[in-house]
Amino acid sequence: MSRIAYVNGSYVAHAEAGVHVEDRGYQFGDGVYEVCEVRGGHMVDERRHMARLVRSLGELRIRLPMSLAALGVVLRQTIARNRVRDGLVYLQVTRGVARRDHYFPDAATPPSLVVTARSVDPAKGEAVAGQGIAVITVPDNRWERVDIKTIGLLPNVLAKEAAKQAGAREAWFVDASGHVTEGGSTNAWIVTPEGRLITRPAESGILRGITRTVMMEVAEKLQLRVEERPFTVAEALGAREAFVTSATNFATPVVRIDGQTIGDGRPGPVVRALRENFHQVAEIAR
Ligand code: PMP
Repeated sequence: MSRIAYVNGSYVAHAEAGVHVEDRGYQFGDGVYEVCEVRGGHMVDERRHMARLVRSLGELRIRLPMSLAALGVVLRQTIARNRVRDGLVYLQVTRGVARRDHYFPDAATPPSLVVTARSVDPAKGEAVAGQGIAVITVPDNRWERVDIKTIGLLPNVLAKEAAKQAGAREAWFVDASGHVTEGGSTNAWIVTPEGRLITRPAESGILRGITRTVMMEVAEKLQLRVEERPFTVAEALGAREAFVTSATNFATPVVRIDGQTIGDGRPGPVVRALRENFHQVAEIAR
């Protein structure tokens, strides 16, 4: 079956889908995005993802290209036209097409909207989670506004590629004080020897992951104590468990950091319980 993409008002063949060369996303990385999990053909946590989209757009003073209701229709159409049952839907909004100039274009310039969807084999994610992943640590060289989900992801791209070259799957950014901020495309967590869950506060330094927020509720349901505070690489190395969260990873165990084994080197009970319970707490929008 051929894939379909939504581009600025039309559903087009994925292979031919394109935006203008002077789209500000292409020229300046001047845009934002969201990724939602699709499960059983339905979006997971759509409401929260849309709320974050509105926030990101507001911070950059980019207009929402259509009402949230209309956007919901486009997202559902794109999922349906690609016959995605399990996978993800991606949406990107940029400041639109205009002659290349750093200043914002005329206020009448319509923002660009692109939506794609693709299937992901859930068994693959389960296999990865069953093994656990390795991460490396890298200096956090990103700008301060990582709370905005911008498409400008060059530091993340370089960090994740460095992880891949090192035989790892994710890179954890470390700030100037030696504390882990987050992963290249995930939030970072540890479980202390006392069994407390630790993740960095989302007020600054990280993206407020939707999965992170939902996982706090899952932890509460499981009567696990969560402490929002920064943790160092040394503390992570001595942790009982470590894991990452994101819309496409749920909670995925981290079993090695910079080549050193975490816990007994196998996925631990806390991350397994969080992962298993995630979809009972996440909202499935029908
Ligand atoms: N941090 C970064 C840098 C990310 O790119 C992502 C995933 N987009 C996350 C955290 C996790 O966010 P979410 O749980 O909303 O997928």
